[in-house]
Amino acid sequence: MTTMNRRTFVATLGLAGSAALLAGCSSNDASTDVTTDDAATTDDSADEASYTLVKEGTLTNVAELGFAPFEYIDDDGNTVGFDVDLSNALAEKLGLTCEWLPNQAFDTLVPTIQQGGKADISIAGMTITDDRLEQVDFTDPYLNSNQGLITASSSTDTVDTLNDASKQIACQTGTTGDEWIQENLPNATRVPLADVTAGLMGVQTGLYSAMVIDLPVAQNMISQSFTDLQVLEEIPTGEQYAIAVSKDNPGLTAALNDALAQIEEDGTMDTIKQTWFGTTEI
Ligand code: GLN
Repeated sequence: MTTMNRRTFVATLGLAGSAALLAGCSSNDASTDVTTDDAATTDDSADEASYTLVKEGTLTNVAELGFAPFEYIDDDGNTVGFDVDLSNALAEKLGLTCEWLPNQAFDTLVPTIQQGGKADISIAGMTITDDRLEQVDFTDPYLNSNQGLITASSSTDTVDTLNDASKQIACQTGTTGDEWIQENLPNATRVPLADVTAGLMGVQTGLYSAMVIDLPVAQNMISQSFTDLQVLEEIPTGEQYAIAVSKDNPGLTAALNDALAQIEEDGTMDTIKQTWFGTTEI
């Protein structure tokens, strides 16, 4: 994983599987470490045209797959969402197909990318943070986000009343929402969970007083499934989503930035925003 020198591109396996992989989301034993020297790039730096992939011809993603509308498993068992369309579009620009590994807890994603060998990228509604930047590189940002403080519609709690040990506040472990609770509701009882749905369910049934998650996800889930919940407060954290890439693979970050710029330019990004948010103003 660490060798960034150009090597002979050994292309043999996997062509038969590429159509199936386009549908995405099957698991695999990703183990091949290849250097692609033929990556499409308009960059004039030869070094940046070179990157490694855990599986030849494939952009392998890892994410937590319970984060609608960014990445989630639909009723047919397919991994779908904004990030899925985005990664497919980016892969296409790079002449690759896209594959999503099985679900992983959010707080394992950065370590997985840092360790290498399993996934090339994590595109997971992931916010650029200083802590994460010590472990991985990020591409340019692709979306702005904030946090939402969610309570039951019938709740009389305020931010002040929630800051009390008697109040259980759910979050997804290791997220920026988790961090926000620790900093802003230090007296509350924080309940870190692997799963966003479990947290919202708990708020709905009265097990938890509130949950803090990314606002676009809160809004989506409330409108789709949790109609008894509300966004009590929009918290303007000013976060930016970007794609996490190994620090050992700067050529891939550069290639993805190039592809991102292209899909911003050619209207693909707007189409994807329109598909998942009904607007390009996000
Ligand atoms: N954007 C938040 C973060 O990066 C939450 C991401 C997520 O739960 N998938 O921490």
